[in-house]
Amino acid sequence: MRAIHNFIDGKSASADSGRVGRVYNPNTGAQQAEVGFSTARNVDAAVQAALAALPGWMATNPQRRARVMFNFKALVEANMDELAHLLSSEHGKVIADSRGDIQRGLEVIEFACGIPHVLKGEYTEGAGPGIDVYSMRQPLGVVAGITPFNFPGMIPMWMFGIAIACGNTFVLKPSEKDPSLPVRLAELMLEAGAPAGVLNVVHGDKEAVDAIIAHPDIKAISFVGSSDIAHYIYANGTANNKRVQAMGGAKNHGVVLPDADMDQVVKDLVGAAYGSAGERCMALPVVVPVGKKTADELRARLIPEIERMKVGISTDPEAQYGPVVSAQHKQRVEDYIALGAKEGAELVRDGRGFTLQGYEEGYFIGPTLFDKVSTGMRTYQEEIFGPVLQIVRAESFEEALALPSQHQYGNGVAIFTRNGRAAREFAQRVNVGMVGINVPIPVPVAYHTFGGWKRSAFGDTNQHGMEGVKFYTKVKTITARWPEGMTEDSSFVIPTMR
Ligand code: NAD
Repeated sequence: MRAIHNFIDGKSASADSGRVGRVYNPNTGAQQAEVGFSTARNVDAAVQAALAALPGWMATNPQRRARVMFNFKALVEANMDELAHLLSSEHGKVIADSRGDIQRGLEVIEFACGIPHVLKGEYTEGAGPGIDVYSMRQPLGVVAGITPFNFPGMIPMWMFGIAIACGNTFVLKPSEKDPSLPVRLAELMLEAGAPAGVLNVVHGDKEAVDAIIAHPDIKAISFVGSSDIAHYIYANGTANNKRVQAMGGAKNHGVVLPDADMDQVVKDLVGAAYGSAGERCMALPVVVPVGKKTADELRARLIPEIERMKVGISTDPEAQYGPVVSAQHKQRVEDYIALGAKEGAELVRDGRGFTLQGYEEGYFIGPTLFDKVSTGMRTYQEEIFGPVLQIVRAESFEEALALPSQHQYGNGVAIFTRNGRAAREFAQRVNVGMVGINVPIPVPVAYHTFGGWKRSAFGDTNQHGMEGVKFYTKVKTITARWPEGMTEDSSFVIPTMR
């Protein structure tokens, strides 16, 4: 059985808990590898490597650090095919989607290539008599990232791309479900010229995560995953005096106004609801048509589109989506489908029992559609994270606006309309962090920032863009005077600039 190891100080290293995680091929349901789970001692070894690399890396000028990012980008692009296959083989998403996952991460690396420019501080000449004031952004030190299974390429790169470019050294604890790609990325970072110890990977579960939270030399934690764990990391990380940003779950709504371009809406919806088997925090699992006519038309058009959809193994170029990540997750999604029907929603298309010939043990779920879902249902309130689309009918714009605004999650939302004024008002008033206007998956570009509201994110700063730079740096402000040999009297009054 292939064993997946930690990557510490530029070398492969075994974890020593004696516990392992099983890594499956979701297409076949067969175990393909095992990943060793780390103890606090293993986490400490990674931190010690990161600490040893820190002084040299901090002192490396920003342009040289940027060159490592340029090299890394070129290496990832040169190896894209291998990396996308590796990702798909453990996650189950189709190859084209795996390329997209890696490409969205690379866009953050491209932003990080411009780090010399964004790290420039502020300067005020003559803030007082002979006094100049300037500020600089300095790295925090050793920082950590804890990432989910659903974007094993993009999300680690969101974090280590910015953190390392800013001069920090990094400890990454990726998901134990698809741990191979993050190790390959760390190997490529070494090849790109990042000294050993700048990017370390430790695998594991709660034991490793708790060791990260408790480690006194880790200055900040960036987390992405489900909301309960995000809150746990935020509460305990900040209690240990760390800077923490913790992104959580989601339940994104797509509001369809009666004047929307229905052909486009249907195409956008099926991609956003079912792509990657619905395992995206920016998926669109809830659609809110406004008015009965809109709802009936939408439903009528969705059904044939869903029936045409091709579910297949992740290497099938024709497949629109592949299996979900694990047998447990498949069961969880199917339980939600059963619950939805029990709660009284109309199960229009049921994806349970879907099988693919030759892959009967794979974790496939067919596209599922519910209509007449209401806000009191648990299946509406909770995140399902599978290929399940729920229609919640609204009578008016106000009712449609209230639904995502009042939901416990506030990651993303989309509105489909031809009315600019309605779209503008919706974008201004909706209580959600990222808004799409005729854009179903409004994941912001790398030089803007990513982050939800409410239970979708804990902490104040978003991922990547300037918010990412702020998260991974601290500001130092210098007030400087170069007197010309004159000694001034002591002053016991707070200095003011008159
Ligand atoms: P998860 O919360 O189960 O795991 C995330 C990380 O936390 C993993 O590294 C895992 O090992 C670790 N972890 C799991 N249980 C833990 C525990 N009890 N104590 C400490 N650490 C623990 O999430 P997942 O299933 O890997 O990913 C899917 C979730 O991530 C969904 O809820 C999805 O919405 C969310 N997500 C959010 C965003 C966002 O930006 N808001 C992006 C992607 C995914």
